[in-house]
Amino acid sequence: MTAANRLDATARERTLDRLERERFDCVVIGGGITGAGIAREAALRGLTVALLEASDYAAGTSSRSSKLIHGGLRYLAMGDVALVRSTALERKRIHALAPHLAEPRWLVVPARGRAALFKLRAGITAYEKLGAVEDRDRHRNWGRAELEANEPVLDARRFGFACVYREYVTDDSRLVLANLRAAAGAGAALASRMAVDSIVREGERAGGVEAVCRESGRRLRVRARSVINAAGPWVDAVRRLEDGGAKPLLHLSKGVHVVFRGSRLPARNMLILTASDRRTIFVIPRLGVVYVGTTDTTYPHGSDLWPTIDAEDVAYLLDTVNQSLALDPLAPDDVTAAWAGLRPLIAQPGKAPHEISRRDEVLVGPSGVVTIAGGKLTGFRPMAQETLERAAEIHGLRLAAAAPPLPLPGGDFDGDLDALASRLTRERALPPATARRLALCYGTEAFALAERGAEPLVPGSPILAAEVDWAVRVEGALSLEDVHYRRTRAALYHPEAREAGLAPTAQRLAGLLGWSPEREASELAGVRARMAADLAFRSAEAAA
Ligand code: FAD
Repeated sequence: MTAANRLDATARERTLDRLERERFDCVVIGGGITGAGIAREAALRGLTVALLEASDYAAGTSSRSSKLIHGGLRYLAMGDVALVRSTALERKRIHALAPHLAEPRWLVVPARGRAALFKLRAGITAYEKLGAVEDRDRHRNWGRAELEANEPVLDARRFGFACVYREYVTDDSRLVLANLRAAAGAGAALASRMAVDSIVREGERAGGVEAVCRESGRRLRVRARSVINAAGPWVDAVRRLEDGGAKPLLHLSKGVHVVFRGSRLPARNMLILTASDRRTIFVIPRLGVVYVGTTDTTYPHGSDLWPTIDAEDVAYLLDTVNQSLALDPLAPDDVTAAWAGLRPLIAQPGKAPHEISRRDEVLVGPSGVVTIAGGKLTGFRPMAQETLERAAEIHGLRLAAAAPPLPLPGGDFDGDLDALASRLTRERALPPATARRLALCYGTEAFALAERGAEPLVPGSPILAAEVDWAVRVEGALSLEDVHYRRTRAALYHPEAREAGLAPTAQRLAGLLGWSPEREASELAGVRARMAADLAFRSAEAAA
């Protein structure tokens, strides 16, 4: 960690002063993975950059994904070869930049018979060629005996074979934070809780934005030679700030995930299962829990930050798991956490959400605002390059030829996560589960973090209390939700700390951010209400 790459929430006013004082080469609207990738790329290629995020960093879709760094085998079947090639190749590049945030794992695709297995193998072989997969990471085939030995949770009466191939798992909101910190380290000025509500004109051209601070109400004018709209599901709303008559571009599709304790759904590997409508869903074990998703349904209610999780969404996922796995059937009450996100897909009239391409598109508005829409988490680097090259062409910005391949914060190691976790256990006297989790979340920065204190947030949890301080001082957290949902991720992955960790986290935050007792109480009530809303489908199910 360097002083420059810290997003220190206690230095917020200084950052706002800087945003107001300077004139930047570009101002980016939106602090999800798309905006974060653009800010990093721009700063590393020599531009002066500002980024404004209306809510918390990664609060939108970029904390609600399936968290896979993948090319998406199914898009190959849809004929999207260029997209699959680009994203399949990106897997290696993201792994090289941040091995802790792109953990290679085996993904098991079960097949009923030999014919299905051959078809699968052909697809996976093509995918591996597109992604230039090395020999040691190539797929393997399992017969019945291997399937039973390696993944006993799969129903042996249904599946006789499997093809097993490599994919990479990330932590989406932490990947966003790592990119933002890299941008800050290269000179970018970043602020969350700054909602852009108008585009500043200089004659006919966009010359910056105006935004209001959601913490203090302070209004800012941020001047810039180019304005980039990376607002994900909100790109149409931002386009309308420039051009009230802009036609909608997006088709919003909702995706839901549900989480179970590993003891209740003891999958050893990641799995792909086929639902009754032939769509595929993932089962992903991570840090002692297993999450299952996703659904893919048109969301007609507009770009909500918290789309509802309906009983039907959960039933669809549970039915698929219960039909494919040899388990006591899972029920809504087994779900320990759930999340829903909106895919900002580029509309293709007449197509169902799961048939719509995941491609991205760059557009230029009438006063020169550059919008990037669509795409995937995995493609954030090529999307950033494409967007910046377009902005540079239009606005005459001078971009260095290529960003230096500097590791993201914590990514400066050889990729051996087991070795990193063992060193943490030895050198910081941490329990193995804590060390493993810290290695995955923080990479090599876990050593500096654990130096601040090794006490668990709550007894028996692998989350350290010192992570709350780190979240504020290094990762820009301003609220209890920021920490619980998008930094420690206790709300999603840690049933032992989901409720029990709330009060100790709020107490530490109150000290760090100078909260009154009333503010602390309202933060606690807000997150409790949020967590209850996430699981409200359980009572809907009981009432039905
Ligand atoms: P967002 O993350 O939503 O960021 C946009 C940001 O803009 C928001 O934080 C918002 O607050 C901010 N904003 C909006 N308006 C304003 C304003 N006026 N001023 C300032 N800020 C503003 N991709 C993969 O590669 N792998 C996967 O496994 C995967 N799984 C997925 C599963 C689901 C269920 C979903 C929904 C998507 C998945 N994706 C996956 C796709 C991926 O998550 C998205 O493509 C990506 O996160 C979109 O990022 P974004 O930055 O464009 O949007």
